[in-house]
Amino acid sequence: MNEEFEKIKCLIIGSGPAGYTAAIYASRADLKPVLYQGLQPGGQLTITTEVDNFPGYPEGITGPEMMEQFKTQAERFGADIRWGIVTKVDFSARPYKVWADDGKAILADTVIIATGASAKWLGLESEKKFNGQGVSACATCDGFFYRGKDVALVGGGDTACEEATYLAKLCNKVYMIVRRDQFRASKIMQEKVINTQNIEVLWNHTTKEIVGDMSGVNGVLLQNVKTGEEKKLDIHGFFVAIGHDPNTEIFKGEIALDETNYIITEPGSTKTNKEGIFAAGDVQDHHYRQAITAAGTGCMAAIEAERFLSSN
Ligand code: NDP
Repeated sequence: MNEEFEKIKCLIIGSGPAGYTAAIYASRADLKPVLYQGLQPGGQLTITTEVDNFPGYPEGITGPEMMEQFKTQAERFGADIRWGIVTKVDFSARPYKVWADDGKAILADTVIIATGASAKWLGLESEKKFNGQGVSACATCDGFFYRGKDVALVGGGDTACEEATYLAKLCNKVYMIVRRDQFRASKIMQEKVINTQNIEVLWNHTTKEIVGDMSGVNGVLLQNVKTGEEKKLDIHGFFVAIGHDPNTEIFKGEIALDETNYIITEPGSTKTNKEGIFAAGDVQDHHYRQAITAAGTGCMAAIEAERFLSSN
């Protein structure tokens, strides 16, 4: 029996700021976009607390509320927003074939991939328990809440160094917990950390437990991997900066990815190596990773999809 396909002009996969912004622009351009929300409707912002750096919200807004507003705005222009996960794609020929877990099979003239990235976590129970109550994977988003306080940050890569120096400008003291006796970060980033007075690097340390009470985190228990010795730091914020994984599992072999599995886009554009397929937001950006930059590239992707359709 022949599989029945739903034919659409524009499919958007993912529902963070990139996906919803693409949906707003694509629906206003009459592309009648269908958007699949994915595993975490609203994306990474739904696991943060206050968003204070997105222009247009002078009093700040919570991540989940902001994403609800993005969704409502996209729906206002007719975007077909669906609860569900895209499980398989076939990008071998146009129109592109996509299957979702609601049983739908879709033929799409253009596809905008906005599946984002997920922060890596240590995997501790206490990390889950205090997520949003002192535990964060984004210093740029949440550092502000710890102004004048002592915080700890785990990781030794470029992100960790960048976030530690960012936090050092706001916080009283930043403990950097590094599991080896050296950084993975580039020399220039390492130097910035070493030259920042209020950052103390704790080499060869791992996190055993994050501790706190009803009002949030108030400490962290560390272990020296060389000596086995344990120590507790009094801190109020605990930041995890051990890398991100782009959500590209289903696109492997279908579209060009870089060595860390991010989608490769043409510089200054959201075009991928397949015509009519565009990528926006963190799935193609391991550098800025901000809601506003994701929204910006979501807008670019919709405009590029519209131009592609009108020239084809
Ligand atoms: P990386 O993978 O480069 O670094 C991850 C760091 O976290 C490493 O120090 C690693 O330790 C540590 N780590 C990993 N897992 C654990 C764990 N379970 N417990 C404790 N520590 C852990 O990720 P980044 O996000 O830092 O960088 C990703 C890419 O983005 C890199 O290519 C980086 O260069 C680039 N980038 C560039 C920037 C810039 O140029 N300004 C800014 C930010 C990122 P170990 O070394 O022992 O494995």
